[in-house]
This record gives sequence, C-alpha cells and structure tokens, in this order.
Amino acid sequence: MTDFTMKTDADGVATITWDTVGKSMNVMNQQGFVDLDALIDQALADDAIKGVIITSGKEGTFAGGMDLNIIAKMKESAGDDPARGLMEGLMASHAILRKIERAGMEPKTNKGGKPIACAMQGTGLGIGFEIPLACHRIFVADNPKAKIGLPEIMVGIFPGMGGTTRLVRKMGAMNASPFLLEGKLSDPAKAKQAGLVDEVVPADELLSAAKAWVLSSPTIVKPWDEKGYKMPGGTPYHPAGFMTFVGASAMVNGKTQGAFPAAKALLSAVYEGSMVPFDTAIKIEARWFTNVLLNPSSEAMIRSLFINKEALEKGANRPAVIDQKVTQVGIIGAGMMGAGIALVSALAGIKVVLIDAKQDAADKGKSYTADYMDKGISRKKATVEKKEAVLGLITATTDYAALKGCDLIVEAVFEDVGVKADVTAKVQAVTGPDCIFATNTSTLPITELAKAAMDAEKFIGIHFFSPVDKMLLVEIIKGKQTGDLAVAKALDFVRQIKKTPIVVNDERFFYANRCILPYVNEGVRMLQEGVAPALIENAAKLLGMPLGPLQLTDETSIDLGVKIAKATKIAMGDAYDDSADELIFWMADEGRLGRKANAGFYNYDEKGKRQGLWEGLSARYPLAEEQPDLHLVQHRLMFSQVLEAVRALEEGVLEDIREGDVGAILGWGFAPWSGGPFSWLDIIGTPYAAERCDELTEMYGPRFATPALLREMSDKGQSLYGRFGQDAKAA
Ligand code: NAD
Repeated sequence: MTDFTMKTDADGVATITWDTVGKSMNVMNQQGFVDLDALIDQALADDAIKGVIITSGKEGTFAGGMDLNIIAKMKESAGDDPARGLMEGLMASHAILRKIERAGMEPKTNKGGKPIACAMQGTGLGIGFEIPLACHRIFVADNPKAKIGLPEIMVGIFPGMGGTTRLVRKMGAMNASPFLLEGKLSDPAKAKQAGLVDEVVPADELLSAAKAWVLSSPTIVKPWDEKGYKMPGGTPYHPAGFMTFVGASAMVNGKTQGAFPAAKALLSAVYEGSMVPFDTAIKIEARWFTNVLLNPSSEAMIRSLFINKEALEKGANRPAVIDQKVTQVGIIGAGMMGAGIALVSALAGIKVVLIDAKQDAADKGKSYTADYMDKGISRKKATVEKKEAVLGLITATTDYAALKGCDLIVEAVFEDVGVKADVTAKVQAVTGPDCIFATNTSTLPITELAKAAMDAEKFIGIHFFSPVDKMLLVEIIKGKQTGDLAVAKALDFVRQIKKTPIVVNDERFFYANRCILPYVNEGVRMLQEGVAPALIENAAKLLGMPLGPLQLTDETSIDLGVKIAKATKIAMGDAYDDSADELIFWMADEGRLGRKANAGFYNYDEKGKRQGLWEGLSARYPLAEEQPDLHLVQHRLMFSQVLEAVRALEEGVLEDIREGDVGAILGWGFAPWSGGPFSWLDIIGTPYAAERCDELTEMYGPRFATPALLREMSDKGQSLYGRFGQDAKAA
C-alpha cells in the first residue's frame, strides 16, 4: 500500500490521490515524497496523459502537514554532518515540487509542459498547502470549516518546503507576512479573497472543475518563471519594497524581542531570496530552514508545542477506563471563572446548569456567553442562530435540584474551605456520590476539600486559567484518593472543550502557580535591591516571557499577592521565605493594587492604558549605583521558575516532564522558544545548570540551591529528555 496512487481517465486526465495509510488526515512522510515523485515522472512521461489533478482520498480535507520525524531522519542519516543531511534532504524535496511547477516545460522557452491542478477537499496546512502552491491552479471545496495556510511559525520553524518563497513571489512580502510570520489560517472564502487559492467550488464539483481547467489548455508558466517578472510590492531596493522590509524587520523584532530564531530566519530568507532568481531563492530558503532546524530551540518547540501537546490532548496520560464524555455539566458559582467555564462548555455542545446563590448573579454569568456570542456576530464569526443554540444549552438558576442528570460538577465559588464544603454537600444531596465532582480552586488542597464529598475517589481538581475562553491549559489535580474514573472524566471533558490538559498531584499551588510565584518574587526582590525596574521587565521580555514580573503582578493584583503571602506564611511557618513581602505589602498599603486600581508598579491613564513604570518605586528603593549584567537578571528570573519545576518533578507533583514543559508554555507563557523549563535545561545542559545554580546560591541564598535530581543528572551528564524519555513517565 502506498500513500499516493494514480488513475488516468478516458480523457487523458491523471488523478493522483493522496491517502496516507492508517491516518485520518494526510501527512507527508519520506516514502510519500518518493511515491509522489515517481507518479509525477510517470505522468509527465506518458504521452497519453494531458494533465494531472492532485487530490486527497480523505473526506473533507487535503493534508494536515509534514510528519516532523522526517527532519530527525534527515539529520540522523547524515551522521556527524547533520547540516549536510538536512540541506540535501530539503533540496531533494524541493526538486519534486519544482518538477510539479515546471511540469516538463522547456527551461528556456517555457514551451510544453502539462497542467497540474490541485483539488483540495478542505484543510491544507504546511506541506499540505506548499504542494498546492507548486501546482498551477488551486481549487478548494467550499467547506467553511476548512483551514488553509502555513502555521509552521507557531511551532518554531517556518514554511521551508518552498511555501515562503512561493507565497512572497505570488502576493508580495507585505501581503504574505500575516500568513508567514503569524501563521494566519483562512477558510476557503477568505483564502480566495486573499489570493492564496484560485477557485472555491461546491464540494461535489471539485474534481470536475479541476478537470475542466486541465483540459482547457491553460497557461501554466508561473509569473516568476516569466521574463521580466517583478515581485508584487517590490523587492528590498525598490522604494515601496524598502518600506515593507524596514517595517517587517522592526515588527518582527518588536514582537519577538529577538527571542524566536525562526521569525528572524524567515525574514532573512524572504529578504535575501527576493533579490535573486527563483531557484537560488529556494536554496537560500533551504539554508535558512536548515539553520532553524539545527537550532535547539526549534527542536524543543516542535517537541513541546506540536508532538507532546497533541499527545497530551489525545490522552497520553489517561487511565484506561471507558469513555467518560460529559453530556451535562453543573457549574456552581457564576462569577468570573464559572461564567467562562459555562461558555466553553456550551460552545462544545455540552448542556450546562449554571448555579449561583442569587438569580441575578446566575443570569449575569449566563450573559457572559451572550456577550461573547454578540462579539462573534459583530466580527462575522458567529450567527444569531448559533448564539441562540449556545444560550439554549445554559440554564441559569439558584435551584440545586436542576443538577439532577449532571454527570460532572465544576465548583467555582469563593475560595473558602467552608463555603466550598457547604456547596459540595448541597450538590451531592441532589446528584448522589457517583457524579464526578471537580473544584476549580487555585490554592486550596484537593485532598482537604475532598473531605466534604461523599466519595473522595470521585473528587478532583480541574483548574482553569483566566480568561477561560482564551487560556489553553487546564490543570487537572489528583487528590490523594482521587480515582481513575475521575481523572478520565476530567480529561475527556477537557478534550471536549478543546483545551490542553496536564495531570498533576496535590501539593501547594499545584504546578503552574507554584512556578510563577517565584518568578514574580524574584522580580520584586531585585527591585528591593535597587535593580532598575526597566531592566527587570526588559530582561524578562528579552527572554520571551509575555509579561515582566512587575507587569504580571499588576495584572493579577497586588492584594492577591498579599493574600497568598499571608496564607503561605501560615501554612509554611518558619520555612517561609518572606524576603519579597516588604515591597508587596507596602504597595498594598499605598493603594497601588495593580491594573484594577489604575495604579501599581506601572502608571495607568484614566482609560486604564498602561503608561511607564511608577516613579515612586525608585523613591523608596533607590537605584543601586552598579546595575547587574542583563544575563544575571535573566538567569535569576529563569532559574526561579525552572528550579521550582524541577522540585515539582522530584516531589512527584509532576509525573511527566512533557506535562511540565507544555503546561509551562500554555499556562504562564514560559519562554516558548525554549520548549519549556525542562527543555531549557537540556538546551543549556545539566552540568552548566548545576554550576550556575551553585553560583546563584552563593550570591543570593538557598532558594537557588541545586536540587538533588539536577545534581545527580549533572554528575552523570544526563539530559532530562534523555533520562525521562519522550514517551515515558518521569516517575
Ligand atoms: P468570583 O468571586 O468572580 O465568583 C464566585 C461566584 O461564586 C460568585 O458569583 C458568588 O456569588 C458565587 N458563590 C459564592 N458562594 C456561593 C454559594 N454558596 N453557592 C453558589 N454560588 C456561590 O470568583 P472567581 O474568580 O470566579 O473564582 C472562583 C473560584 O475559581 C475560586 O475558587 C478561585 O480560587 C478559582 N480560580 C480563580 C481564578 C482567577 O483568576 N480568578 C483562576 C483559577 C481558579
């Protein structure tokens, strides 16, 4: 069985059908390239064949992209010269796409050749759009759910199978930039509007439309193969093109702070490629692509954001029990979190009973969904009918009896053990002990809260992040007695609402909050020491953190910081390190509570827009005469988070380093270019990490002490992914 097959009809039109064996969506692998190449050769050589249609055998989709293991294989096959292996592998694949594009035309005169159309039933991503781009005409079925584009940048690489070079030559650098630099995806209608594809036709006319075109003796020479071709929008030394490239360069650096190698490499490939003939541009694209693929950052990003994220979503750590799909969820507490959880559940088609203490609070929670849908309607992303359907799934009430029939409860009432216990008892008086009960607590121990439940095995934490509709991560927390059924229920629910789960054990602050707090505290400590606030914030930004520690504190509010500090001190007693408290408590006393008070570490204007850092900070904490080196500030910020992640692993809070990495990026935006805290340790190497921790411990104290696990791995020269493996659990 091969992934590509060819059939020629009585009119001499050959249809090459791509149907990856054993997959629900086509993905390109090494053998796929070989098969496609052979069929193209055959079609071009056979005089009876007038033209070709490349299409998919999968209903409703064309192709999902490349099997990224190809890249690893190319590297491996070249032994100790992986760059050569990659470059040669890439150029061999380029040759196949170029063969499709040239289709047997005379090199000099562009005479001859056979028309090759691509007929896409739907979604075409990555190589699944780069192959169409090499064809002479792209037909797409009018399937509004289809997504077309080049999302490679999202996982730390860029379109390196000619997509970059072809798209820029097709539509100009400026117009191509959202598709290349932001990985923007479009439905067929929008793709046509933007000029990504040529024709959108009803699904049942797709092949006949492509065939009619193939038989119409069309012109097939690509503009860039014609004499006198000029790139739309101009090349870098053209006055208009000049502006584009200056702007793009500034934009990329502004957005990525230079922390993402792929964006810079992409821009270089576009810039350099636009000044040379097409075939040279392809070589340049391949060189930059090789450069990016050899950067440990891309390998780590692909592993975390593509391979492992998907594995976790598909249930890599799900207990083997029967399907636990949720049909009706009861949400208790219709505040900020409850309202968001109701929204994402209803959007996934799940019936929701949304309960609050007062009817107007419950109604307000439901109106969050109405507002969300209204916004969608005004942006043409939703319809009035869809809004009615989604709202129709939510019952907002104060009546606990309405919970009858729910197969999952998510409690999101006030963060108070007594209130939560009361609610648990009230709920279970209706649902009984078998309905899985989840709490959305962010700080209270699950095992403790489970005491109020009839059956602790059916009690679990499902911790959402705010805002619920935007944040992709959901942290599932097992209490000491939580059973498999509850874990499976939580995972199946998270899958239904299309978020990414990690499963952790029950310790203070679970995983994400546990790691983010030391980051914030380290920023605060530096400020107290007289480090310039702008240095702290910019050091974080240059690491690729979405928010500096001070801005993050403003967003989450200073009083929350005070509350957490007080509670932690009570819980930890003498072991509590209060060295970051002074500043936070003082800020709270000053009423500078953060964004919500329009005053925090930053100033805000009356509309709430963030201005510069507050001058009052340096009045109280004068700047030290000697400012630390940028790297030192960055290492303090990085290690404060990473060491906490390692401790979470050591203590068994984390059972799988993949969850630690994926959770860090999706949960609190941990430097995505690094692939997560464990990947970062592998990038810098455990021996260097341990050495650096020793230095930091000497300078700043035991909070940087090298954890025993890291010390052992450093002594043995082990890497995290080497030791714990990509698929194996850590423990
Ligand atoms: P919130 O104050 O916005 O909402 C709480 C809601 O619960 C209110 O509408 C309140 O009327 C209702 N409520 C209180 N007692 C009730 C009772 N006995 N019966 C029914 N309804 C009751 O709070 P929130 O920010 O939505 O947080 C809710 C929970 O989610 C807390 O446990 C919190 O720790 C957790 N959480 C919050 C965040 C966040 O960023 N805000 C993030 C993750 C988890």
